[in-house]
Amino acid sequence: MNIGFIGLGNMGAPMAANLAKAGHAVIGFDLAAPTPEGVAMAATAAEAARRAEVVITMLPNGEILEAVAAEIIPAMPPGAVLCDCSTVDVESARRVAAEAEAAGLGAIDAPVSGGVGGAGAGTLTFMAGGSEAAFARVTPLFEVMGQKAVHCGAAGAGQSAKICNNMILGVTMIATCEAFALADKLGLDRRKMYDVVSTSSGSSWTMNSYCPAPGVGPKSPADNGYVPGFASELMLKDLRLAQAAAEMVDADTPMGRAAARLYETFVEEEGGRGRDFSAMLTRFEARHRT
Ligand code: NAD
Repeated sequence: MNIGFIGLGNMGAPMAANLAKAGHAVIGFDLAAPTPEGVAMAATAAEAARRAEVVITMLPNGEILEAVAAEIIPAMPPGAVLCDCSTVDVESARRVAAEAEAAGLGAIDAPVSGGVGGAGAGTLTFMAGGSEAAFARVTPLFEVMGQKAVHCGAAGAGQSAKICNNMILGVTMIATCEAFALADKLGLDRRKMYDVVSTSSGSSWTMNSYCPAPGVGPKSPADNGYVPGFASELMLKDLRLAQAAAEMVDADTPMGRAAARLYETFVEEEGGRGRDFSAMLTRFEARHRT
């Protein structure tokens, strides 16, 4: 397939390289990033899109996505599909899809989970929103870049699924961290705490698979000095997107709001930037009740 790939950063570069390795003709564009292996570079985003059957975007946020979409939609051949894999706000995703469809193109929002490791290994999970037909066109590419793609519904449904999942993840990580800090102060051994909780009703992915306490449970960023993994500022981004979506549809999300505030303080005032989001445990270890 002829593929345009715009946004070749930490995630986009390995995804584009995997598509090229699988035999697709990939023409890339980025304002700054170096050329991934096997990818031909274009001088502009529009040029990368001009002959593409599918254009994939992997960009920092909704504002940039909308600017890039305005440039490439008029350049894309009729019937081509614009597939945005960035994590952006639901409103931007829906607006871009409407603009693409109005121009006779297919549109899919397909944010990913799996991080930089998953992008390199081709094991990402895609959660997609858009028409059946557009989803079917892009599915063979999802199979190269990932191991699972769920068609969640209409335009914006992929972003909706992603931010709901990550809101649960952020809230659960905080709950796990504060419980470890409480257990410490109660004199409970962390391994005993893990043994009980990981097999009891308090179990969760954050406890069982990504334990924030070093030396406890399977290997996680906690065992590597909290090098990400999934950086706290990326968790903050997703929690803010969840709050923006909750505001848009008037949903009451008190735990999501509290999690967004805690990660904001952690990232902006407490040295959390650049550390894995499980380093939240160190925040609670260092604090008292007030
Ligand atoms: P990144 O900052 O490494 O890459 C973004 C790239 O977009 C950069 O290379 C930048 O130069 C390029 N760019 C910015 N504006 C552009 C423009 N107008 N035209 C062309 N290129 C432009 O970010 P990343 O870590 O690759 O993340 C990309 C997206 O994936 C984000 O939306 C992020 O939330 C999401 N995501 C990241 C992770 C992760 O672990 N890094 C995990 C899941 C989802």
